[in-house]
Amino acid sequence: MQIVVAQKAGACFGVGRALELARRVAAEATGPVHTLGPLIHNPAVVDSLAKSGVTAVEQPEDATPGATLLMRAHGVTPEVEARAAEAGLTCVDATCPYVKKVHVTVERMAREGYVVVVVGEKGHPEVEGTCGHAPEAVVVGSAEELVLVPKAKKIGVVAQTTLERRVLREVVSGLIGRCEELRVVDTICEATSERQQAAAELASKADVMLVIGGRGSANTRHLADVCSGRCERTHHVEDASEIEQVWLADAELVGITAGASTPADQIEAVCARVRDLSA
Ligand code: SF4
Repeated sequence: MQIVVAQKAGACFGVGRALELARRVAAEATGPVHTLGPLIHNPAVVDSLAKSGVTAVEQPEDATPGATLLMRAHGVTPEVEARAAEAGLTCVDATCPYVKKVHVTVERMAREGYVVVVVGEKGHPEVEGTCGHAPEAVVVGSAEELVLVPKAKKIGVVAQTTLERRVLREVVSGLIGRCEELRVVDTICEATSERQQAAAELASKADVMLVIGGRGSANTRHLADVCSGRCERTHHVEDASEIEQVWLADAELVGITAGASTPADQIEAVCARVRDLSA
């Protein structure tokens, strides 16, 4: 049996960086360490962080006084940062630099008089964080929602980093002709689409596909959908212990992929388990 890991799989740059920061802060901090919400959608990682003393709080006010508070890769609003500072917490910013770029872009657009349109999912933490940097911004999930955008001379558009580029194209083409000046900054991060493309290629050759990642992770579920469409024997697992021998029966090629919040050690554990079960 051949075991192949997709060319692009697992933790993206922003998540890897946030995890590294969390581990470093946990090792160096003298007091309690919290993350604002779970650091990533991966229960095994959240458990292992909790064992090293890093626990999640929902609001800055819920943190232990004097604690260190780690901001997640998705980013937060300036208002949340201000509340954390007011609560006397030491903030460590693990916001992904690509998300930071979106914050800086919308701030500049708002300052320069553009009506800011954020193309993305309403209520998603990243989108909420972005809107905090341009409070008048309008969030649209698709071209159908363009009725929400007020009439304006200048419109500036950015996207949630994980947006499908097709949606951005549709929204932008719907905006053409609705204003004198349309400025579009394509803030989509390639990490998600690269993982989907690599998974699709592998799934179309594999007899069995294993997709690793938290069940609460939207990007992992999406990867599992992409694989299921090409390989009937696709299984979404959170960790190696869930894999059953019967899944691997008669398989010549087992493909493995993982969501953007799955660290490398979990991918290695799945490879090892497949090797053991097929020995
Ligand atoms: S998906 Fe892209 S933008 Fe989001 S955390 Fe990962 S690297 Fe950063």
